[in-house]
Amino acid sequence: MKINSAEFVISNSDVAKCPKDKIPEYAFIGRSNVGKSSLINMLTDRKSLAKTSGKPGKTQLINHFIINNNWFLVDLPGYGYAKVSKSAKKVFQKFITAYFSKRTQLVSAFVLVDCRHEPQKIDLEFMQWLGENQIPFSIIFTKADKLSKNKLPIQINDYIKEMLKYWEEMPNYFITSSSSGLGKEEVLNYIEGINSQLKNS
Ligand code: GDP
Repeated sequence: MKINSAEFVISNSDVAKCPKDKIPEYAFIGRSNVGKSSLINMLTDRKSLAKTSGKPGKTQLINHFIINNNWFLVDLPGYGYAKVSKSAKKVFQKFITAYFSKRTQLVSAFVLVDCRHEPQKIDLEFMQWLGENQIPFSIIFTKADKLSKNKLPIQINDYIKEMLKYWEEMPNYFITSSSSGLGKEEVLNYIEGINSQLKNS
């Protein structure tokens, strides 16, 4: 998919106020610092469409961007900051639950995972929750350039092994690097494929 336009639409703390347009929506979510903003900027060919290196605990917002005037890319807040209080975590959970349960336009989520790290409980539990709630998702492994050519497949295989302890099948996944552009075409073509299926259905 070629990106002809990518524009910020609105930020919201309330899912009820998100755009009403019935166009396909794809949400990007992951632990803080996973590389979400960098990935969104890489996918959309924009230097700073999504703001990088946001501070933990900043206002948690649902950010809508419209791509090619025909689908929404949604930047959801990062989760999993150890320093955030228990009550803040509860607020976050409510907020995310509301987004995923009320946003009927949502076609699929992308759960971002740093490919260098062992599977993290918070990510595994979050994907479990998506599964239980029948919310389609893919995994996006980020920062692939930070691992050597030998280490990368080993690390991904270890992740798959861990996932298969809980899942019958490995969910769809992509290996990406915002520095090199790895995985860009794959992610965009995947979205384009679903969008054209939706149009024809
Ligand atoms: P966010 O908090 O998930 O939005 O993460 P950011 O996009 O702000 O990235 C966090 C840090 O990781 C920043 O210092 C980025 O420059 C760095 N980073 C993000 N993606 C990549 C990548 O693909 N490769 C490398 N080498 N660094 C990355």
